[in-house]
Amino acid sequence: MSVEEREFCVFCAIAAGDLPADIVSRSDDVLAFRDLAPKAPTHILLIPTEHYANAAELACARPATAAQLISMAASIAAEEGVGDGYRLIFNTGEKGGQTVFHAHLHLLAGRGMPGF
Ligand code: 5GP
Ligand code: ZN
Repeated sequence: MSVEEREFCVFCAIAAGDLPADIVSRSDDVLAFRDLAPKAPTHILLIPTEHYANAAELACARPATAAQLISMAASIAAEEGVGDGYRLIFNTGEKGGQTVFHAHLHLLAGRGMPGF
């Protein structure tokens, strides 16, 4: 499917530089930026620059990029001073709480994280 045929994707627009974002880190394949509506003092989103609908599709198509989301999250957590405790979340599918259908990893820290 070409970019023109696909529905507008807010994270593709951020990756392309067409929408502003508070960017924290980037590589060729991954972009990290602060969540617009943070749910914790540190709330950063890490996305593949290429569009995949969710983490499972990304992991099947680009396993190295999926791994890079996690390793970059660890580096950012250390840089933000929260390397000793943080939460990583992939909401997957509507019933899993996903609202933006471009794969993304939430990095949350800086407040108590209740266990399940
Ligand atoms: P989901 O619910 O899909 O797991 O998470 C989507 C996240 O993207 C939400 O935490 C929401 O606040 C964030 N978000 C949605 N639109 C934007 C945007 O335009 N810019 C930024 N920085 N974050 C966004
Ligand atoms: Zn996208």
